[in-house]
Amino acid sequence: MCLHFLTHAFDGFFRRYFRSLLCYFLCLRCSSRPSLRCGTSRTLITHPSLSNHSRYLFHFLAKGLTAFTFLSHRIAKVVTFLFFFLSWLVDLDNDTSDSVQLLRDKLHGGLLVDGFDENSCLSRYQSAEYHLKGLSGNPSSYLISRLRKYEAQHKQCGPYTEFYNKTVEQLRSGKFTESSPCKYVVWISFSGLGNRILTLASAFLYALLTNRVLLVDPGVDMADLFCEPFPDTSWFLPADFPLTAQFNSFSQKSDECHGKMLKNKLVVNSNVPSFVYLHIVHDYDDHDKLFFCDEEQHFLQEVPWLVMKTDNYFVPSLFLMPSFEQELNDLFPNKETVFHFLGRYLFHPTNSVWGLVTRYYQAYLAKADERVGIQIRVFDTEPGPFQHVLDQILACTSKHKLLPDVNNQQDATNSSGSPKSKAVLMASLSSGYFEKVRDMYWEYPTVTGEVVGVYQPSHEGYQQTQKQMHNQKAWAEMYLLSLTDVLVTSSWSTFGYVAQGLGGLKPWILYKPENRTAPDPPCRRAMSMEPCFHAPPFYDCKAKRGTDTGELVPYVRHCEDMSWGLKLVDTDTYR
Ligand code: GDP
Repeated sequence: MCLHFLTHAFDGFFRRYFRSLLCYFLCLRCSSRPSLRCGTSRTLITHPSLSNHSRYLFHFLAKGLTAFTFLSHRIAKVVTFLFFFLSWLVDLDNDTSDSVQLLRDKLHGGLLVDGFDENSCLSRYQSAEYHLKGLSGNPSSYLISRLRKYEAQHKQCGPYTEFYNKTVEQLRSGKFTESSPCKYVVWISFSGLGNRILTLASAFLYALLTNRVLLVDPGVDMADLFCEPFPDTSWFLPADFPLTAQFNSFSQKSDECHGKMLKNKLVVNSNVPSFVYLHIVHDYDDHDKLFFCDEEQHFLQEVPWLVMKTDNYFVPSLFLMPSFEQELNDLFPNKETVFHFLGRYLFHPTNSVWGLVTRYYQAYLAKADERVGIQIRVFDTEPGPFQHVLDQILACTSKHKLLPDVNNQQDATNSSGSPKSKAVLMASLSSGYFEKVRDMYWEYPTVTGEVVGVYQPSHEGYQQTQKQMHNQKAWAEMYLLSLTDVLVTSSWSTFGYVAQGLGGLKPWILYKPENRTAPDPPCRRAMSMEPCFHAPPFYDCKAKRGTDTGELVPYVRHCEDMSWGLKLVDTDTYR
């Protein structure tokens, strides 16, 4: 545009200049004829008072000027065209990279595949818009390719496929006839929702490491919570699965229990059972814990059906097994992203839960400058609320400047402009803590002038089972906490672990109170966003003796909130 304008301006300037020059020359020559008018250049050149010599000169100059103008027009057009074409290309490039980036975000860095029906599970592709900070780190290309391979395998071996039917037939007959191309881990629905989410992620990782397909017992508590994570198939175990009726009764005493088989020396590599029950519940014994030894994995590898009951995030101990070491290293170069990535891959709230999440988020959290999540879980025989827990929460948020203090000597502050706003999302079975914190920020101004809104979606009173809305609210609250910028969680709570892991957040962990007294210090920052394995084995499989498994490698450490627990940390960011 600009270039074109300049050419026109020059062109006009030259024409006028040429015409004026010619006119001036003629005027000199015909000063005796004052009637001369300076018309167009053409009439001036043909003026009879001009000598032939001068006419040729001016004619030559006029042609030169026309040629120059013509050329400059063409050049300007070409340059303008090139200019627009290049800027279009640059724009196009920006647009393309923008849309590639949008797609990457929508698919959580490539963890998810495109092509699911969006309406059947709105959260799958919408959730990236709510996780404002995106993923914490990038999934390795190996993890992404391994997930795609798993999806293909699940489609091939999933419910009612030819391979599934064949392998179920073996199970019905109780005889191991031939090695099946499809082997399975069946996850039994067990314990609270936070525990279930963590154990599902653990079972899925175990399935990935052992080339098995994960099938999920829907139980009575899993309905309408999670969308299907794998395309064109289902992760739910069909209702007519032959062992379902026994799930509740499976225990360490069951004949098919791996630990019991080991105790009774019934584990013989040549005799492969059609299924084995794995008891990885917090009360498991030393024989059950041998599951975490490579030698036992060697035997389990052949068994077509592994049926697992667990309430533990057992991933850290998988990282201590030499046979999985290389694979885990390739899958998760940054060790503290295991649950973060697997959680974002596996757990998509169903539309009913997503409605709970998005309505609440938009109504109370979206407009705040900062969102602070506080998750309160009190493991006490009485329900509370307790003054010492409230004191501890306020001591933690004040000490680490997560929330502003209030000035209880002042009625109002004289603030100019619009103050910064903080939205505090509290999650607890009791409403007592929320009411106190909300009233505090209503009754007194903050010392910083910030405004603080305090919200709590539910107060269910006590943990309930087999109630769909109760579970949906619990899941929605874990998810909402994961959307905050700063998180405070309670020790020992898997509810809090899910929120921190999904959100990619290193929370401030409230120490567990002893003797109903607020601990001092009240809280500490987590080393990593990973959940804690509450009941790890302390056994050196090779040396066949006890050992402190929190001291073997730098990336598996004892947890901040449970001294005997194990958790994964990223050794680059936490030394
Ligand atoms: P954990 O016991 O803290 O490790 O967490 P779990 O999720 O495994 O079990 C506790 C259960 O109690 C939850 O699943 C909910 O059913 C209920 N619960 C505990 N805290 C809350 C809360 O803050 N909000 C809601 N809605 N439910 C809760």
